[in-house]
Amino acid sequence: MDFIQPASWADALAVKSASPAALPVAGGTDVMVELNFDARRPAALLDLTRIAELADWDSETGSSPGGGNGGNGAGRIRLGAAVTYARVIEELGGLLPGLAMAARTVGSPQIRNRGTVGGNLGAASPAGDCHPPLLAAGAEIEVASVRGTRTITAADFYIGVKRNALQPDELIRAILIKPPAGQQQFSKIGTRNAMVIAVAAFSLALHPDERAIGTGIGSAAPTPRRAEQAERFLAAALYDAGLWDSRGDLPASITQEFGRLVSRAAEPIDDVRGTAAYRLHALGVMAARTLTWAWHDYRQNG
Ligand SMILES: Cc1cc2nc3c(=O)[nH]c(=O)nc-3n(C[C@H](O)[C@H](O)[C@H](O)COP(=O)(O)OP(=O)(O)OC[C@H]3O[C@@H](n4cnc5c(N)ncnc54)[C@H](O)[C@@H]3O)c2cc1C
Repeated sequence: MDFIQPASWADALAVKSASPAALPVAGGTDVMVELNFDARRPAALLDLTRIAELADWDSETGSSPGGGNGGNGAGRIRLGAAVTYARVIEELGGLLPGLAMAARTVGSPQIRNRGTVGGNLGAASPAGDCHPPLLAAGAEIEVASVRGTRTITAADFYIGVKRNALQPDELIRAILIKPPAGQQQFSKIGTRNAMVIAVAAFSLALHPDERAIGTGIGSAAPTPRRAEQAERFLAAALYDAGLWDSRGDLPASITQEFGRLVSRAAEPIDDVRGTAAYRLHALGVMAARTLTWAWHDYRQNG
């Protein structure tokens, strides 16, 4: 097996164009498991760890990496594909709270030090923890090849079980995420408290500036997906009751209906980690809980 280690983004794209079968490797926390179990035997590994720009983040307003610029009103965050979970947690908890919450639940300290957001997208597992918050935040994925660069919305990125919208010659360059104008939440159920793949996960984003709601469901359908009917219901219910402005109590009827609609958007299966029926129930509970938490914080921060 060849091991190719380009030092620049242009070289990486040239290699991927000349050898589309070369398998990109960032943190290796998915790739090495597949190689060790002989689940995959690529002709070549394309190591991305020498490409400095992939391992950094920046704000489109120009704030320096690690600086943090307060969220509300800031430009989009441009998260290099090879930024690790550890850095998301340490540096972006304020700017990307939903993603940072999800990152805290990933694997162990070793996995969080090596594993990357781009690797989670490359693997495109329905159970990947980055996907629900990226969907809820309306993130875009910037991908590139020698043919050029394009962005794909998170909602269009996942196209099947462990399949994403990348063409064979494309690499993920960055993830573009607008810092939130409102609260974000993430909830994950596993068979134990740490080092666990999600049985089901849910992420919620309040977008008070747009009077809109974002959602992301994980591990409960062939791909990560939004609960669009639930989003529309909640946005309309908050608007009709004047709650965005009044920040009043959230009626239980709204919370319950939101949970019911989120659960209805899922399409889970029975597997070793849980039954479909349990996942549906769990999603309804997580949706209602995350909404209660987010709304509580929205009221406090009014
Ligand atoms: C013990 C253990 C625990 C884990 N726990 C969790 C967990 O709790 N939650 C969770 O979501 N995941 C978990 N994982 C899975 C894994 O850590 C994550 O999916 C991680 O985000 C992968 O990132 P990586 O950089 O290591 O990816 P890699 O293994 O390097 O790559 C993963 C895939 O993405 C592709 N890829 C990587 N970078 C790019 C790029 N720039 N462009 C195109 N394709 C690319 C690779 O070719 C490969 O197909 C766990 C793994 C292990 C071994």
